[in-house]
Amino acid sequence: MELLSKQSKQAFEEAIRYIPGGVNSPVRSFKSIGRSPLFFEKASGSVLTDVDGNDYIDMCNSWGVTLLGHAHPEVTEAVIARVQKGTTFGAPTPEETLLAKKVIDMVPAIDMVRFVSSGTEAVMSAVRVARGFTGRTLLVKFDGCYHGHADHLLVDAGSGVAETGEHLTPGVPREFAQCTVSLPFNDPKAVKALFETRGEEIAAVIVEPVPANMGVVPAGSGFLQLLRDLTTQYGALLIFDEVITGFRMSRGGAGQYFGITPDLVTLGKIIGGGFPVGAFGGRRDVMEVLAPLGPVYQAGTLSGNPVAMEAGYHTLRLLDQPGVYEDLARKAESFLGKLRAIVDRYPVTLNSVGPMFTLFFHKKNPTNFEEVKGCDFENFAWFYRSLLKEGVYFSPSQYEANFVNVAHTEHQLRLVLIGVQRALSYVY
Ligand code: PLP
Repeated sequence: MELLSKQSKQAFEEAIRYIPGGVNSPVRSFKSIGRSPLFFEKASGSVLTDVDGNDYIDMCNSWGVTLLGHAHPEVTEAVIARVQKGTTFGAPTPEETLLAKKVIDMVPAIDMVRFVSSGTEAVMSAVRVARGFTGRTLLVKFDGCYHGHADHLLVDAGSGVAETGEHLTPGVPREFAQCTVSLPFNDPKAVKALFETRGEEIAAVIVEPVPANMGVVPAGSGFLQLLRDLTTQYGALLIFDEVITGFRMSRGGAGQYFGITPDLVTLGKIIGGGFPVGAFGGRRDVMEVLAPLGPVYQAGTLSGNPVAMEAGYHTLRLLDQPGVYEDLARKAESFLGKLRAIVDRYPVTLNSVGPMFTLFFHKKNPTNFEEVKGCDFENFAWFYRSLLKEGVYFSPSQYEANFVNVAHTEHQLRLVLIGVQRALSYVY
């Protein structure tokens, strides 16, 4: 059966005349899927509706934003009330402190926090703080991890950068890239060797504690603890980029889930309740280097925007109700168990950690970026197009994660399983 997407096609044809590639973020283009992207009109709970009126069960969740589901009535109501009182003042508002207190209460590694408008800005600022605090330059990251589109973080990066197949995006000076070393993920020997030779130069190690931007690739046993131990030993800082894992893996994010305390944490996506918010926070003595208290400059006209703060606060308040994380964990475990039983019959593997998962068109569960690159991308694209016809919207790339969220009903998740089973049967 064909998917009726006449309106989406028309919208795309118009968009490409005015916007490069027709999209404002490359992964939205469906470039590797072999069809034009869908344009959406609305969403509620876990159901997306495109401009042709087709409904999809949403497993992409706006790339990990909508843990509560779309358009939660309490968040929507609070936002409308806030908008009516004015949307920006370029001056402090109590909403910023309200959200700051909530973040600090939920995330054990954060003593102080500052808000920005995207995950990219959060990471960019955290790295600057780490360099300012340590007086060192070198940043260590891992191949296939994605930390936003700031210059020095695009070296061997995941997500949409991975789709370009480039080691470094044109436009980033080589001199900038030399300030970053990217190591293979899950390779303790490579990390130890770098610290032994250049340990005194390293300002920070940044890692996605559950990498989600080369698809979900769990850290091997002891790998995150090794990063914690080596950074402490050599006087470098450990940054957990929790833009995806924050408020998802647990109330306190992946740091709390794994029992490891980083020096700095970056947040985004869920924290804005559907609005553009990022945040970075951590140890008080580290955060105190920030202007106007300290010498490290960082700023933003719309940082701490009161409408976005209100949305973020009510989202976190709702997530922090008793039983929410326990129910999510139970639901995800049951769904992923059934999904594994289905995919086991095909040359497809499932990687998952908590409610995050990726189906890899690969015979073996990938443990690093190089292995993910060995996936069968053509079959994935075929599977993906078939899945859309079944009314299921996954993240459109092997280099991305999918998410079980709080709003998914058991019935919707059953329909997802049926859709996956059918889509796989078309491919194989
Ligand atoms: N860090 C991680 C782990 C991400 O997944 C992303 C975006 O996907 C970012 C940083 C950048 O966030 P943003 O797209 O809001 O700039």
